[in-house]
Amino acid sequence: ELLVVGSANADLVVGVERRPAPGETVLGSDLAVHPGGKGGNQAVAAARLGARTALLARVGDDAHGVLLLDAQRAAGVDTVGVLVGGAPTGVALITVDPSGDNSIVVSPGANARLTPEDIRAAGSLLSAARVVSSQLEIPLDTVAEVVRTLRPGARFVLNPSPPAPLPAEVLAACDPLVVNEHEARVILGDDAGEAPEDWARGLLALGPRSVVITLGAEGALTAEGSAGTAVRVPSPKVDAVDTTGAGDAFTAALGWRLGLGEDLPTAAAYAVRVGAAAVTRKGAQDSYPTAAELADAVPE
Ligand code: ADP
Repeated sequence: ELLVVGSANADLVVGVERRPAPGETVLGSDLAVHPGGKGGNQAVAAARLGARTALLARVGDDAHGVLLLDAQRAAGVDTVGVLVGGAPTGVALITVDPSGDNSIVVSPGANARLTPEDIRAAGSLLSAARVVSSQLEIPLDTVAEVVRTLRPGARFVLNPSPPAPLPAEVLAACDPLVVNEHEARVILGDDAGEAPEDWARGLLALGPRSVVITLGAEGALTAEGSAGTAVRVPSPKVDAVDTTGAGDAFTAALGWRLGLGEDLPTAAAYAVRVGAAAVTRKGAQDSYPTAAELADAVPE
């Protein structure tokens, strides 16, 4: 079973001709509301593929919280671990201009109130999980508590997004640490090097048991073991329409397949198919394939 511990947000999207200057008001398109947040995205992606998936998260006691819970349940996610109240549901206020550029304000809301105490109180979920997957849209202290609460033998997958300095205790638990190019560069800083193989070596030196770097249309690269041997996993070629949430779908699929016992390159080969399928459709959660849709859109 996969347990996702992370954020759930309502994405509120309005199209605008141009962004307002300070003090100015502009009119935009009709509002679109989409379920999002990296934790919510990962849970939906895994459940749609057929994984037994639970979400540990916090939403507000409000209409956005209901919307997010409904989206999780519709995908088949176990939501007993979704806590309600304490602050408004997290929202992302997104304006999109005619060139497709986004400007985004995130109000973490309830996500910022998912506490280490909440993790300790969710012992039965954590002890049932073969794989636990987290991101950094919840407090870092909370992620550290997840690492301390893992059942022996459970596997911890972390996508450090938005990127932040990680304590050694968290890094040491990651198996793998999953980053895109941007996250790799932020974590490694100035001496990151130019090639993904350099980033993998640099990231492994920080202490995770394994590393996966996603490379967009190029697929992914895995690295593990004391030798840090890097393996390139090419992506299937697809017509990309919208890459929103592709990394979340990739990471969820990877974690699930690792939990089934696949080795890292094999699980990554499955995950790049899922990522590729997700970019062929618009949206984040709306774009995630079922197993049947995956076989159809991106055959093995
Ligand atoms: P993020 O979405 O976090 O920025 P990436 O852009 O690296 O991460 O994409 C994550 C995964 O989604 C990739 O590893 C790949 O599997 C898939 N993907 C993203 N963009 C494309 C694309 N243009 N064509 C095919 N697959 C893609």
